[in-house]
Amino acid sequence: LESDAGRSTSVNSTTGKSTSANSASADSVSGFIAVDPDSPVVSALDLGVTRGDGIFETITVVNGMPQALDAHLHRFARSAAMLDLPAPQPETWKKGVFAAVDSRPTVDEAFAKLVYTRGIEGSGIPTGWIYLQQSPDFTTERTEGISVVLLDRGYASSVQRTSPWLLQGAKTLSYAINKAAAREAQRRGADDVIFVSSDGYLLEGPTATIVLKLDDTFVTPRTESGILPGTTQQSIFEIAAVNGYGTAYEMLTPADLRRAESAWLVSSVRNAAPIREIDGEARPIDAGLTEAINAGLAARTI
Ligand code: PLP
Repeated sequence: LESDAGRSTSVNSTTGKSTSANSASADSVSGFIAVDPDSPVVSALDLGVTRGDGIFETITVVNGMPQALDAHLHRFARSAAMLDLPAPQPETWKKGVFAAVDSRPTVDEAFAKLVYTRGIEGSGIPTGWIYLQQSPDFTTERTEGISVVLLDRGYASSVQRTSPWLLQGAKTLSYAINKAAAREAQRRGADDVIFVSSDGYLLEGPTATIVLKLDDTFVTPRTESGILPGTTQQSIFEIAAVNGYGTAYEMLTPADLRRAESAWLVSSVRNAAPIREIDGEARPIDAGLTEAINAGLAARTI
């Protein structure tokens, strides 16, 4: 992959064709080599596997067009820096994404997942790979909306400043907590979660950013509160601004969520899912506006 980054793999799990490589034998165009996804491509000793010590990005690919690719690679580099991983080279990863996309017939919606770990313990050499998969069908979530429960995140909104070693705001591979929260939502009969800080501020979903429409302004929680800067939220703000809406980053509370004209959980792949119920209480969704936002997201060419 990269001279300082060692082994890298590009896996296309939809085809059965894949590639694995080190820097000496990496494909000269993409920097990645295709390996068979059914073949073992990651060592059982890799710290990404044994400790979740690594980072990832999930990038939507609409009709063969990776969306917000630079924003995702920017966040990838930010996460790597937060974990003291060697800086991933954006041009190499970009070529890897296009190589994975080009290796498959074009579908309406797919996603590319980029994974970058601390590598095999003791080697000091990171491991990286990319795979491409067809996206699940999110039509129901996008059109009929989702129910959410508010769950305590157990951290104050100052966590990033007071305790940066907790890595809040990095997109790490350690998503066991995010998945556990999603299961708690299911146990409570809901589709998804909004985390609330111990000092009472809205944070984010386990895999999504919260966006509210308050008095004709699109508002999202401030990233300083220990949440991931969302690429989908950033695109929505650009779309909103072009259409004459205000945009703002604020410290928001559950009361703001309840009084919002509209509320969404937004993320790559799912896009904007309107929130139709909070802790069992119904709230209205704006189907027309949601459709316009999702059409704007799907039309992104950068
Ligand atoms: N917050 C968390 C914790 C996430 O895992 C994600 C995406 O997976 C997001 C927010 C939304 O980020 P993006 O819109 O860039 O996909």
